[in-house]
Amino acid sequence: MGEKARLDSIIRIQSCYIVDKYISLDQKTYNPAVPHKACLKLGKRATFVPVFNDQIPDHYYNFATFDELKDRATPPKMLTDYIGRVEDTDNPTTRAGTRLKKVIIQDTRENTFEMTFWPDQSSTLPDHVKKGDILAITSAAVTNFEGNYQLESTPATTVTVNPTTADTANYITRLKNLPTKALAQLDKNIVTITQLNAEKNKDRKTRGRFTCLAKIKAIPDNRAWFYAPCPNPKCTKKLHLLTEPTTKFVCEDDDNIEQPKVMYCVNAIITDDIQDASVVFFDEAMTTLLNITCEEMITVHKYHDKREIPDKMYSVINTQKLMNVTIKPDRTIAVNSVAQPPITALPQPATTPTTALPPTATSAPSLLPATPAAKINPAKRPYHQLKDKKA
Ligand SMILES: [Zn+2]
Repeated sequence: MGEKARLDSIIRIQSCYIVDKYISLDQKTYNPAVPHKACLKLGKRATFVPVFNDQIPDHYYNFATFDELKDRATPPKMLTDYIGRVEDTDNPTTRAGTRLKKVIIQDTRENTFEMTFWPDQSSTLPDHVKKGDILAITSAAVTNFEGNYQLESTPATTVTVNPTTADTANYITRLKNLPTKALAQLDKNIVTITQLNAEKNKDRKTRGRFTCLAKIKAIPDNRAWFYAPCPNPKCTKKLHLLTEPTTKFVCEDDDNIEQPKVMYCVNAIITDDIQDASVVFFDEAMTTLLNITCEEMITVHKYHDKREIPDKMYSVINTQKLMNVTIKPDRTIAVNSVAQPPITALPQPATTPTTALPPTATSAPSLLPATPAAKINPAKRPYHQLKDKKA
């Protein structure tokens, strides 16, 4: 019998035992879960006597602070407990053929960063987790991706959604009172269009998420601006729009298309006045820009021609926005969402050659209107401080 199977047959997780006849050795440095000086070696002579006592706590949190993450990103990687509020959840994404779940969490000091849940462990992140939920996470690993600290799940990671225990009450109160951050503020990778194009031209298969401050320069005509896939999951056809006798989407194969999901996909050129990029605005981004859903645009505003750009779309040209973009594996750039450029999200000039992207002489802040200094609170840690720290 292997060591693990032997111990599994003796002890049960969440139970307590008095352990005797062990050997105490110096600590191993591999992924220690808690700071400790010794390592207990439990051989066949070790004895386990169950302890039955209702007063024994069934969990122990040792939440790390943001400042502690730096040390934990290098070996020995101490496993890390963290507590924070969900600011954004991602649909499962595929990286190198592996489906990942990601959340962006904000801690009590308004630091935001990403946590990745690996697929073999993704049962630890319940599907119902949504924006505003508070997560108490245990035994995560800290990694450093291009200057940004991230958390990743390990096989030992547990997630408690909206914990109610006494030792988390203080955190919960503070987290609930945090200001809501605009989605665009959460993304640390604020780049210029020049930098975005450089990223796009890199030969890597992974996706990249970035934010840029840009405006739409042009919307080319004669390209479809919406798509309407057949809602039958077994059908791959696109729906056709009939306008007589009423506006209606139909599939050539399937009857009774009740609730077609029509979505914007608008090809456009964006610019930051220094360089341009070709992008596709997806449904959420274009809906926010226009304040009109794609379905309303077609049925209410009667723009029926898939290839004729609605006039209303031209009205958003030259409006500056923070754009959350993804570089897809096929190297197209998708704009997933847009937000007003918040004053506190001003991108800082790149001052260090160690950042992932080369600093440029013309950085984004110069494009913004002058900012009253009174709005900058030096006591707050801006989300981009990590990058600046490296200077
Ligand atoms: Zn169909």
